[in-house]
Amino acid sequence: MSRKKVMAANWKMYKNPTQTQAFFRDFMPLVAGHTRDEIVVCPPYIDLYVAIEAVKGSSVAIGAQDLYWEKEGAYTGEICPGMLLDIGCTHVIVGHSERRQYFGETDDVVNFKLKAALEAGLTPIVCVGEVLEEREANLTEDVLRRQCLRAFHAVSAKKAGKLIVAYEPVWAIGTGKTATPQLAAEAHLLIRGEAAKTFGQEFADNLRILYGGSVKPENVKSLMAEAEIDGALVGGASLDPKSFSAIVKY
Ligand code: PEP
Repeated sequence: MSRKKVMAANWKMYKNPTQTQAFFRDFMPLVAGHTRDEIVVCPPYIDLYVAIEAVKGSSVAIGAQDLYWEKEGAYTGEICPGMLLDIGCTHVIVGHSERRQYFGETDDVVNFKLKAALEAGLTPIVCVGEVLEEREANLTEDVLRRQCLRAFHAVSAKKAGKLIVAYEPVWAIGTGKTATPQLAAEAHLLIRGEAAKTFGQEFADNLRILYGGSVKPENVKSLMAEAEIDGALVGGASLDPKSFSAIVKY
């Protein structure tokens, strides 16, 4: 089974438009002609316009870090799928652990957002992953099963077409602790199994599951060597053009 890898950057709340311009000025020449993997950069909303202008004519895609599920309305501060499409976004992160932890996103909210993204034709990168206490209590499998089941609720295989999943053990995000490639691969296998139950085996066989959690130029190669790992979602190490390009070109 050959699945094209996706190397995605999650900038979180870092960089303003001026810094975004500087990033792409340095980054684009470093990845010019790199077609082996798909490259996606997800900056803050305010940087999307500058980012999209900067990658025009290349195969680098731009995604948002979140969206709201309604089409429009009195929802102060929110951004809807249609707005992301209009500006030229193709991808969107859904259910990142920081949104779940700090902004109260429940599995139901993740499901609403996933359905809205798919409906609009955006490619959602849905994040799942256990916190440290859950891993230590041997609850990782239960948590991943629940998060997948609830995120995928009422989504058909036909509608789920562009779905990407990211396995991000919360204890590995921004901590410098990386899951071993074997541990990540086991989690990916479980997630693929859940996707097979909901969407069928063929869909699951083609589903890209990314690993996220302290991915760096030094550890990316061993993670990507696992057949189950179809790319990376990179936070901290994606902020520097040299470091992210080294990860992309592992
Ligand atoms: C993330 O934000 O999705 C992430 C994986 O962060 P980091 O690479 O910094 O651990």
